[in-house]
Amino acid sequence: MNWKRLLKRIPHKVQVTAKVAYSILWATKEIHRAEDCYGVTHLDTKQIILTQGQTPKEAVHTYLHEILHSFSEEYDIGLTESQVRKCERALYYILKEGNVFSE
Ligand SMILES: [Zn+2]
Repeated sequence: MNWKRLLKRIPHKVQVTAKVAYSILWATKEIHRAEDCYGVTHLDTKQIILTQGQTPKEAVHTYLHEILHSFSEEYDIGLTESQVRKCERALYYILKEGNVFSE
């Protein structure tokens, strides 16, 4: 996985439902919402905030993690933190080029 390339492709906005999109913002300070958490999802303002200074791999994982939180809330799935972390690992394989969809 080319993490640097993926990091550069993180957009400013990501669509989550037909009507809802989340803005992706980068914070200069660390966010300590929970242990090992370097991002935060604000459901009220529809913002995903990621911490700068992570390695490209960490930043991409944090991004996927926070996206899963937003999907979970917008679709009323109610994933727990532990379930989000497990989905985050699965998502890696779903997104892996040439895996779920051949090239
Ligand atoms: Zn989380």
